[in-house]
Amino acid sequence: MLAIIIALLILDFALTSAISWLNLAYLKRRAADPPPEWAARLDTSRFPQMVAYREAHTRLAQWARLADLILLLVILLSGLLPVLARWAAGLPVGQIWQGLAVIAVLGAIQYAAGLPWEILSDFGVERKFGFSTITWKTWLTDQVKSILLTAVLGAPLVAGVLFLIGQLGGNWWLPAWGLVVLFQLFVAWIAPLVIFPLFNKFEPLKNEALRDEVFALARKANFPLGGVFQVNASLRSTHSNAYFAGFGKSRRIALFDTLLEQLSPAEILAVLAHEIGHWKKKHIPKSLAAGVLLSGVGMALLAWVLALPWLYRAVGMEDLYRAVGPVGPVAVVGLYVAGMLFSPLGLLLGPVANWISRRREYEADAYSLELYDHPAALEEGLIRLSEKNLANLFPHPLAVIFYHSHPPLLDRVEAIRRRVAARAAAPSEDTL
Ligand SMILES: [Zn+2]
Repeated sequence: MLAIIIALLILDFALTSAISWLNLAYLKRRAADPPPEWAARLDTSRFPQMVAYREAHTRLAQWARLADLILLLVILLSGLLPVLARWAAGLPVGQIWQGLAVIAVLGAIQYAAGLPWEILSDFGVERKFGFSTITWKTWLTDQVKSILLTAVLGAPLVAGVLFLIGQLGGNWWLPAWGLVVLFQLFVAWIAPLVIFPLFNKFEPLKNEALRDEVFALARKANFPLGGVFQVNASLRSTHSNAYFAGFGKSRRIALFDTLLEQLSPAEILAVLAHEIGHWKKKHIPKSLAAGVLLSGVGMALLAWVLALPWLYRAVGMEDLYRAVGPVGPVAVVGLYVAGMLFSPLGLLLGPVANWISRRREYEADAYSLELYDHPAALEEGLIRLSEKNLANLFPHPLAVIFYHSHPPLLDRVEAIRRRVAARAAAPSEDTL
């Protein structure tokens, strides 16, 4: 059984690596010989930098992936898991605390193993290409805040799930599912109010003319807008973005200061009309509902696997499982191994989720044209954002299928143009 888990981990690694290198080779080929109709429209002088940036990230990601695979194999094969579970089971505290102790140790190992790659990205690649502006002080404070936040939010959730596992046996997953869903809603609600401001400064948009136009746009769409904020994202990097978050009164649009610098007001409004399109087409409640269903299926699967003795035999702790059952520290190790077992499921579910997401991006673009009829601004805004962020303009079709939640830029621009052309060709109502 251990062999199956290891085979799945290696398969996952091999597929991900293959797609990633295929993607890079494809980009190099297309960037060297771009389609002529695009060569004139795009800033081809940035192409060598785009390729070099992607190549640097692909190499770094490959090393990180390899290190991660080795770490997981060492954790599985070294006998660390049974040692850890036995140590925790001997602690003079309740099962829930014992389980939390195992998670803390496993979490610390994974965190420490990921740190070098994060540092190499933030202070290496991202700095070399002029994106990263972060100082060590900000970086360190970010790390401390993230760890505390994970502990404060995560520990009660895990404790709740472990409590249900201890109380209800195999039926734990149903109430635990409810708990996880409530937790997700709670986090989505407090994130823009409490969590994001821990990391960034949110100020009402200073450009008053633009702010009035944003509110006018929201009114036209009947979009209940709580506020328009600018975020000091330039504190960390010059990458730019815009998003909206929150429910009800906390619903707000956040514009990165870097975006305000890079786009014209018309382009910003076109991009925001796209964001409002996601709301208008109910993409967020739909994703939320899908997430709720999916986490229910996932937890039922976990509950089933968690009760299988071979899972514990595979990592050499069947005796402990027989002695105390799948609760507390044993349950945590079981969930950890089950997580590895299910990791290739991501490769299967990813394409479905990404396909839905890409279709929604086209829908939101179409809505942007309906609400704020400036196709040139939308096109220019999208192109400028991609170019400034050195986004991959020519992703391999397989990489799009597996990893891209957004359509390739050129496909998006083509869809916008097709839509505008179709509208021009259609007989207008006045002529009837
Ligand atoms: Zn979008």
